[in-house]
Amino acid sequence: MSSRPDLLSPAGSASLVGPAASPHAPATTWWALSAEETAETTGSTLEGLTSSEAEARQQRYGSNELVERGSRTAFQLLWEQLTAVMVLILIGASALSLVLGKFLEAGAVATIVVLFVVLGFVQEYRAEQAIAALRRMSVPVVRALRSGQVVELPAVDLVPGDVVLLEAGNVVPADLRLVETVGLRIQEAALTGESEPVDKHTAIIDAASPPLGDRANLAFSGTQVTYGRGRGIVVATGMQTELGRIATLLQGVRTKETPLQERLDNVGKQLALVGLGVAAVVVAMGAALGEPAADLVLTAISVAVAVIPEGLPAVVTFTLALGAQRMLRRNALIRKLPAVETLGSVTVICSDKTGTLTQNHMTATIVDVAGETLQLDHRGRERSPAATVALLGGLLCNDGEPALADDGTLSMIGDPTETALIEAAHRVGIDVFAVRSAAPRLGDRPFDSERKRMSTIHAVAGPDTPPELRALSDGEPIAFVKGAADGLLAHTVAVLTEAGTTPITDEWRRRIVDANEQMARQGMRVLGVAYRTLPDAGCLDIAEDDLTLVGLVGIIDPPRAEVRDAVARCVTAGVRTVMITGDHPLTASAIAADLGISRGGGTMTGAEIERLDTEGLAAAVRDIDVFARVSPEHKLRIVEALQAQGAIVAMTGDGVNDAPALKTADIGVAMGITGTDVSKEASDIVLRDDNFSTIVAAVEEGRVIYDNLRRFVKFAVAGNIGKILVMVGWPIPLLFSGGDIDQAVALLPLQLLWLNLMTDGLLGLSLGVEPAESNVMHRPPHTPGGSIWAGGVGRQTLWTGALIGAVALGVGLSYEAAGRVEWQTMMFTTLAFLQVFQALGTRSSTDSLRTIGLGTNRLMLGLGGVVVALQLVALYSPLNGFLDLEPLSAVDLGVCVGLGLALLGVLEAEKAWRRRKPAAAIA
Ligand code: ADP
Ligand code: MG
Repeated sequence: MSSRPDLLSPAGSASLVGPAASPHAPATTWWALSAEETAETTGSTLEGLTSSEAEARQQRYGSNELVERGSRTAFQLLWEQLTAVMVLILIGASALSLVLGKFLEAGAVATIVVLFVVLGFVQEYRAEQAIAALRRMSVPVVRALRSGQVVELPAVDLVPGDVVLLEAGNVVPADLRLVETVGLRIQEAALTGESEPVDKHTAIIDAASPPLGDRANLAFSGTQVTYGRGRGIVVATGMQTELGRIATLLQGVRTKETPLQERLDNVGKQLALVGLGVAAVVVAMGAALGEPAADLVLTAISVAVAVIPEGLPAVVTFTLALGAQRMLRRNALIRKLPAVETLGSVTVICSDKTGTLTQNHMTATIVDVAGETLQLDHRGRERSPAATVALLGGLLCNDGEPALADDGTLSMIGDPTETALIEAAHRVGIDVFAVRSAAPRLGDRPFDSERKRMSTIHAVAGPDTPPELRALSDGEPIAFVKGAADGLLAHTVAVLTEAGTTPITDEWRRRIVDANEQMARQGMRVLGVAYRTLPDAGCLDIAEDDLTLVGLVGIIDPPRAEVRDAVARCVTAGVRTVMITGDHPLTASAIAADLGISRGGGTMTGAEIERLDTEGLAAAVRDIDVFARVSPEHKLRIVEALQAQGAIVAMTGDGVNDAPALKTADIGVAMGITGTDVSKEASDIVLRDDNFSTIVAAVEEGRVIYDNLRRFVKFAVAGNIGKILVMVGWPIPLLFSGGDIDQAVALLPLQLLWLNLMTDGLLGLSLGVEPAESNVMHRPPHTPGGSIWAGGVGRQTLWTGALIGAVALGVGLSYEAAGRVEWQTMMFTTLAFLQVFQALGTRSSTDSLRTIGLGTNRLMLGLGGVVVALQLVALYSPLNGFLDLEPLSAVDLGVCVGLGLALLGVLEAEKAWRRRKPAAAIA
C-alpha cells in the first residue's frame, strides 16, 4: 500500500510533459541580452504576445508543467498489486498446490488472486485519479500581458514570449528575463540552496557563464518572490526551465506512506506472524492426526489465507482518497495526503482574523482627524481639509484598482482593506480616477505584516492636483504612509489641523490613542494616514520618518455568521480556537468576544511575546486565546509553544512570511482566495473559501475517515479471528476422539479466500464511506500515533472475533455430530452471514442501527446484497462443486441467516449498554 503524501509538487511542477525541444537555442545566455533583444529573440514584445500567437505557441511548446513525479502509471499500479506480500503468498500457495498435483485448488486460488488484484487495482486507480484531480486544482494563477492587457491565466498556459507580472508572494511560474524590477527580491533556495533572497535587476550581465545565483536579471521557475514587484519575458517553460532540469533528477524519489498507513501495514504484518504461529499449531495437530504431508501444506496455506486481511491496502487507499474528495466538496483542498488523517487529531486551531473569521467585506465608516470625527455615510458632506487629505491619502497610498462599470457603479480589485478606502473616497464624492492621475505615483514601499504599513510617493505639483494636496508641499513630492496607527505614531512629529501642521504634543498623542482605541473596541480595523514631503522621489528610505499624522480611518469588517457556530462546534469537540492577528488588541478582542473565542484568558500582543522566553511563552499559550499585533515570526513561536504542550496545531497563514509557521504546524492551512502562492506551497490544506468553518469541516471529515479506517480494521480483524478459531478449534475434538482424518481441516483455502473476498474486499469497502457518527464533534480528538486498538477497540475486536468463531464452530460441530455432510458448508455459510450482519453492527460504535438508519450507507446495502447473491450462487450453482459446497436446505440456510441476525442483536445490545455509561468507550 503506497501513496504519495506530497500530492502537489512545487508550483509549476505539476504534471505532464514540457516542450519536446528547447524553444530558443542557445537557451543559456539570456542574461547577456537586453530586454529588447530578449523580446526580439523570443519573437515577442514588451507588451506581450497576442492571444492567437500564444495559442499557436501552446501547440508548439506544450503546457508549462513538469513531468509528473511520483504519480504512477496504470502498469506500475498493477505491478504494485501483484508484488504485495499477501498476493505473493497466495501466488506461492497456488504454485505449491500445482506442484502437489492439486490442480483444482491451484486454479481456484489463482482465480481468487486475480479477483483481489483487480479489486485492489481498481481502488488504487480510482484513488490515483482522485489525487490527480486534486493536483490539477491547485495550479497557480499568474498575471500576464497579452496584447498589452493584464490578464489572469493558469500558470500552465504560459508560453515562451509571454510577459509575466510578479509581486511579493508569487512563485515564479517559468524562467523569465526580467525587464522591470521594483525592489524585487527572490528567494532561490529551491534551486541554489541559498536561503537569503537575491536582489534582482534588469541590466545586462557581461559574463560567459555566471552561476545560477548570480544571474540577477533572470527569475527562475519555482523560486519565490519575497519582496517588491517586477515583470519579465518568459524564456523557458515546463521541463526546459532550470527547475525542470533538476526535476528530472527527482523523478525516482519514492514517497512515504501516511503514518496511519504505516501502522495499518504493521497490523497486516503482525497478523501474518500470528498466521504463521497458528498455521504451525494446526499443522502439528494435523500431523498428530496422521494427515498426509500434502494435506498439511494445504492446511497451512488455508490458515495463512484466513488470517491475512487481503482487502486492507485497497480499503485504506480508497478511504483516504475518497476522504480527500469529500473534504474538497466542503472547500478544503488537501495538498498532502497525511493531512487527511492528521486533521482528525487537531487539538488547537490558530486562525487569522481578517477574512477567515471575518467577512473581509470592509467598509470605511469613520474618519477621525484633529478635532473632528466624520461619519462617512453621505456624499458631499461638509468636511475639513484635513479630513479630505486623510481620504485622499488613503486613496493614493493604495494598490487597489477601481474600475467604472457602464452603469456608473464602481467595482474594484485588490485587498479589501484598501478597496474600502477607495470606496469611501468615492462615496463622499471624490473623483477617484481624476485624483489618481493628477497625483501620479513615483515610487513605493509595499505593505508587509512586519512594519504593518506601506508608503507611496506622489507628484502633487500638477495643475489638476486637488488644492488640499497642493497645500501640503512647495512642489516637492509627497510620501503618503498608511498603516497601523500605533506604529505610525512612533514616527510622527506633527499633526495636521485646521490651522496647518503643529508639532505633536503628549496631549495630541493621548487624543489619537484614545480615538484609535475607541474605534478598535467596537471591533473596527483602524488605519492611520500620514504624510511627509521629500526632497526628491528617490528618498524612499526616509519616506516613513518624521511624519505628519493626518487622521485615522475606522473600517468595519463584520464577523462571518457561520463562524460563531463553528467555534462552538470546536468547543464540544475538544478543539481550542486561537485568534492570531496583526490587528489592534482591542479590535481583536472585540471580534473574539463576539465569536465566542475568548475564554477569559486575555489578549497578548507581539511585543509581549517578544519579552517572553520559550518557557514563558509555553505557559502563556495555555490560557491566552487572542494574540494581536503579531508578526509572522511570532506565529512560528506560538506554534512551537503549543506543540511543546503536546498540542496538534492547525495554523492559518496567507503571506510569504507565514511559510515557516505553516510548515511547522501539524496542519498548515493556506487561503485559497487571498493567500500567496508561497503560503499555499508550504501548506497541507488550502481553504477554497478562506473560511474558518471550512477548517472545522475538514477536522470533522478527518475524524470520520479515521473512525472508518478503524472500523474497517475492527471488522476485518474480528472476522479473521473468527476464522482462525474455526481452523484451530475444529481439529481439537478429533485429536481426542480420533475421528475421521478426512475432516481434519475445517475450511478449505478456497473457501477462506472466497469469504475474505466477500467480507474484507466488498463489505469492508463500504465501511470506508460510512457517514459521520452523531458524536463525532462531541468528543475529544484521538491521540495521533495512538494505538488503533485504544479506546476499547481491541477488546471489542477480540470478543466479536471470539463470538464469530464460537458460533461457526458450534454450528459445524453440531452438524458433524449429527452426521450431516453439510457441516463444512454450514460453517462456511454461517461465517458469511455473520459477517454481513457484523458489518451492519460495526457501522457505528455508539449509535444504534435504528438511529443511523439502514439507508444512510447505500454502498453497504448494495454490496451486502451482492455478497448475499454471490453466496447463493456459490451454494446453488455449479460453482458449488468448485468450492466443495453442498446445497443447503431452506431450513439450514435459515439457521445461518438467523445466527447472523442474532450477532447483530448482540452487537446492538452491547452498544446500548455502553451508551448508558456516561464515559462510553469510543472507537
Ligand atoms: P490580519 O492579521 O488581521 O490580517 P494584517 O497583518 O493584515 O492583520 O494587518 C495588520 C495591521 O496592518 C492592520 O491592523 C492595519 O493597521 C495594517 N494594515 C493592514 N493592511 C494594510 C494595508 N493594505 N496598508 C496599510 N496598512 C495595512
Ligand atoms: Mg491580513
